[in-house]
Amino acid sequence: MYSSGNLFVITAPSGAGKSSLVKALMAADLSLELSVSHTTRAPRGQEVSGREYYFVSPEAFEAMVQADAFVEWANVHSHRYGTSRQAIEDKMAQGADIILEIDFQGALQIKKRFAQAVAIFILPPSWEALRERLIKRGEDSSEVIELRLKNAATEMAQVERFDYVIINDEFERALTDLQTLVKAQRLKLSSQRRQRPQTFKALNIT
Ligand code: 5GP
Repeated sequence: MYSSGNLFVITAPSGAGKSSLVKALMAADLSLELSVSHTTRAPRGQEVSGREYYFVSPEAFEAMVQADAFVEWANVHSHRYGTSRQAIEDKMAQGADIILEIDFQGALQIKKRFAQAVAIFILPPSWEALRERLIKRGEDSSEVIELRLKNAATEMAQVERFDYVIINDEFERALTDLQTLVKAQRLKLSSQRRQRPQTFKALNIT
């Protein structure tokens, strides 16, 4: 699919601070659009369907898979998650810069499908820091924390297939890194050509 916008895919093991970073990135840059995924997991806390996720039954999710309604989907922590065509196609057609906050399996599918996608992996500074964040978050039992740490090893092994890495040792610096990446991508020749065709034309650059 053609798009004049950029597509940023952000992946991290749970506890690396991805959601807080993406939230701060979005708050500071109103031209970025966050894709809302579908999931079969139940809403947590204050989550609202259509805002954090579209919460659907396993049957409804499967029907969407069969109808080829997803550009990517994956099983993550025993639930299914997917990015629907609808979640991104309209935004892409309008030339928006889109953020996908998804797991590594989805990120690799998106990279295959969309040549311009930029895949960013967020790493914690150490195992100790990751464990500490998971404990501090207070959302999980110690068994779940051990499972998340085990999964994190598998997830982090995929980092070499990503384009960029941000190490979240200090929130503000990691946020600046992320913002710098978005800015640099917008300044790439291919991106400038897509977004400013009139300028190139007026300068007689083909
Ligand atoms: P949570 O249930 O904690 O919100 O998310 C669990 C994991 O699923 C996170 O790693 C999150 O990035 C990932 N995830 C969320 N939406 C999608 C999606 O649409 N596709 C894929 N592949 N992963 C997703």
